[in-house]
Amino acid sequence: MPDLKKLDAILDGLKPYNARLVAVSKTKPAADIRAVLDHGHADFGENYVQELVSKQPELPSSVNWHFIGHLQSNKVKLIAGFIHLIHGVDSLSALKEINKQAAAHNRDIEVLIQVHIAREESKYGVTPDQLPEFLSQAGSMGLDRLRIRGLMGMATFTDDENIIRTEFRGLRKLYDSYASETFNILSMGMSSDYLIALDEGSNMVRIGSMIFGDR
Ligand SMILES: *Cc1c(COP(=O)(O)O)cnc(C)c1O
Repeated sequence: MPDLKKLDAILDGLKPYNARLVAVSKTKPAADIRAVLDHGHADFGENYVQELVSKQPELPSSVNWHFIGHLQSNKVKLIAGFIHLIHGVDSLSALKEINKQAAAHNRDIEVLIQVHIAREESKYGVTPDQLPEFLSQAGSMGLDRLRIRGLMGMATFTDDENIIRTEFRGLRKLYDSYASETFNILSMGMSSDYLIALDEGSNMVRIGSMIFGDR
């Protein structure tokens, strides 16, 4: 079961930063999510489409579902009817498909562009160098049911706080150069590094194991 005291402590800590929490519930049962929802927190993050679509009908429509994994274009249609925010978009073809499925469901869909800031090769995302061209192309595609609300990134998995801090700082700088009233979400920080992320300007953290326990 989730640690609700920990959840409250995290939420208290976010207040001075005006940051929002996505409680990452991947691999955890719907009952765990319901306990957090009943406690008053409605934003949850999932990484896998199959898992998300199996849990979503089990929970009230008051849940704000965030997709934080890598979304394959052929699976967009499965979540397009209800998804609240898609964090990890890194291709123009995915943007196009999300727009198409949003239109098919007669709603707008909000997304964040994932930027590759870590040293690891395996992580997804547009490189900081590619981002200006990416955003400008996305802006010229006439995607009228898509709202690009900001950026998302993951730091290198390391104990070296300086590396993490430098990567988050770089993402914050990029974000600042585009920030506006509608481009105002910077999703960075997880259980191990969210305090550094907040310090570097994050306004949305994605925390799983600290709340729900180890996976
Ligand atoms: C799993 C995951 C998280 C949460 O990780 P914790 O270490 O459990 O807090 C955050 N962001 C992404 C993209 C994830 O895949």
